[in-house]
Amino acid sequence: MGKATARAAVVCGAAAAMAAVALVVWRRRTRSEETLRWARAEEMVSELEEMSAAPVEKLRRVADGMAEEMNAGLEVEGGSKIKMLITYVDNLPTGSEKGLFYALDLGGTNFRVMRVQLGGEGRHVVKRESREVSIPRELMVGSSTGLFGFIASELKKFVDSEGEDFHLSVGKQRELGFTFSFPVRQTSVASGTLIKWTKGFSIDDALGEDVVAELTKAMEKEDLDMRVAALVNDTVGTLAGGRYYDEDVVVAVILGTGTNAAYVERAHSIPKWQGLLPKSGDMVINMEWGNFTSSHLPITEYDRELDAESLNPGEQIFEKLISGMYLGDIVRRVLLKMAEEAAFFGDTIPPKLRNHFNLSSQDVSVMHHDATPDLRIVGNKLKEKIGVADTSLKTRKMVVEVCDIIAKRGARLAAAGIAGVLKKLGRDTAGGDKKRTVVAIDGALFEHYTIFSQCLESTLRELLGEEASRSVVIKLANDGSGLGAALLAASHSQYNDFEEP
Ligand code: ADP
Ligand code: MG
Repeated sequence: MGKATARAAVVCGAAAAMAAVALVVWRRRTRSEETLRWARAEEMVSELEEMSAAPVEKLRRVADGMAEEMNAGLEVEGGSKIKMLITYVDNLPTGSEKGLFYALDLGGTNFRVMRVQLGGEGRHVVKRESREVSIPRELMVGSSTGLFGFIASELKKFVDSEGEDFHLSVGKQRELGFTFSFPVRQTSVASGTLIKWTKGFSIDDALGEDVVAELTKAMEKEDLDMRVAALVNDTVGTLAGGRYYDEDVVVAVILGTGTNAAYVERAHSIPKWQGLLPKSGDMVINMEWGNFTSSHLPITEYDRELDAESLNPGEQIFEKLISGMYLGDIVRRVLLKMAEEAAFFGDTIPPKLRNHFNLSSQDVSVMHHDATPDLRIVGNKLKEKIGVADTSLKTRKMVVEVCDIIAKRGARLAAAGIAGVLKKLGRDTAGGDKKRTVVAIDGALFEHYTIFSQCLESTLRELLGEEASRSVVIKLANDGSGLGAALLAASHSQYNDFEEP
């Protein structure tokens, strides 16, 4: 080897050695970067957990707050953020309702029409049929003629498709119970004006209008001869539907696109209703509890952002923590922040993660229930909804953890709301007459999100204690609201006074 070559070899060797050192350093740096990212992601999840915590003491305060707001809302108009609306429903179904009645359920994601043949005493529902139509998004923010026209035309199609098994007595007009699940100020059992839209609806020209008049106008345009005999919302419908099968139902709760509750109030105790007093002394109150708020609610930065960017900032705060419309979007916001601050899905932020409402509560539920060892379903969901093809098991586990935190917070708060209503009714403690109390719950969130509904039930037990819990029953009232509306149409039928006993 000549001198020159030897030098070259030395230089080469040095370069190789330096390169090797650089590689090690680089590897170490990426490894430590990776560690840092995980550490940040883990930190973010623990912060989320801490901020979202709903321990039992906190929930008790929420329940107390709910009971107080109920009293304040009953006392004076506008006395509370929860409206405590009088519904004019003072006679709940008894089981003796008879004949063919219709129901129309509008309140969020879907819209349902139903016909039901009621058999009278002891026979209950002889036959029922329903159809579900999804509401085109543009109609949710368009004009009231657009929305009501669409509903009337779907209803017309449904009536036209009626089979032989349904019988309308000769000479009788068809009668409908209209479940309209937005805050309405009722003026009678079959009329009321819209106070505000919620759940993603925003149709300015419908505000302050009588929703029954709007629907009737649209039905006339369709040549549909039908009378709206009862205007209710889904909570009132659920209460009525629940009561038809179980006379101990006194509270109804909706956990679907939105959340709300109704209950039976001893109306004679309310001074402002003197003069409006029903015969029985009982009156169904539509709480509109979605607008409840309290300083004890565990609200995070994600909730604040969601609220600020919503169609109704500052409103429906309780609903935005609990209901099906929002759970998915809270999870999306957490994951987005994790992608931004902890490169949770790699170096680039998946663009789909920025799309509002890209993740639904149904997606959250599907991921949360994934029982496969490698969380394959979570992986597929992330791929489908967020566009990240490969996720590690560790990533998927952390996503499930986020779902768990958000869903359980919602379920626990809903339980606190129910505990508050029971407290108001004096049915939250052991002892006393221990009357059986049934809470009917409807809505796809409660029906299908098992972890959510189980958490709600166990939290309610935790809040009430074992003994008081024994007399409180939670019952799934599957599509109770549609049936309930038809039943209320029956009990408020124009032909009732002429019916033979
Ligand atoms: P609405 O409240 O409009 O009458 P639903 O009771 O059908 O309608 O509830 C619809 C809401 O329930 C939607 O927000 C949807 O994301 C949610 N949902 C439907 N299925 C599930 C599920 N399996 N798990 C969780 N949420 C669900
Ligand atoms: Mg519903």
